[in-house]
Amino acid sequence: MINLTDAYDEQNIFAKILRGELPSHKLYEDDATLAFMDIMPQVAGHTLVIPKQPAVTFLDLTAEAAASVMATAKLLAPAIIKAVEAPGFMMAQLNSSYAGQTVPHYHMHILPRHEGLELKFHARDPEDMDVLAALAEKIRAEL
Ligand code: 5GP
Repeated sequence: MINLTDAYDEQNIFAKILRGELPSHKLYEDDATLAFMDIMPQVAGHTLVIPKQPAVTFLDLTAEAAASVMATAKLLAPAIIKAVEAPGFMMAQLNSSYAGQTVPHYHMHILPRHEGLELKFHARDPEDMDVLAALAEKIRAEL
């Protein structure tokens, strides 16, 4: 369970990705944020933007870190929707298990949306690594 009162767990998956202990299909990085492909995408192009600040939920983020996440999302979203030719997109983020959060490091989801294409289940089916690598390359080319 992830509760709004939880202390930050340095061993969570995204902390390990930030430290380079686990791989990711990286799209963009700056001093305050990292953006990478979701490994169990709900749609092609599903991207996560995370702050480098160790924060579990939105409540734990400094205003500066929150602004940095939004700035990176603003940079990434046009590249993502261009790469997958999406006419729309969603941005979403979940705070606590009660809201469906599964990884206890704050993150913003960017989800391309297409007419008639439903989202797949949240955090369920891992995508082929080659497919993710090819998509990441396509998105990076649009940055
Ligand atoms: P949440 O449920 O916390 O809002 O979203 C967590 C997201 O992280 C899910 O969409 C899930 O597919 C994704 N995810 C879980 N583990 C990993 C991982 O090891 N690598 C990457 N890139 N994404 C992950």
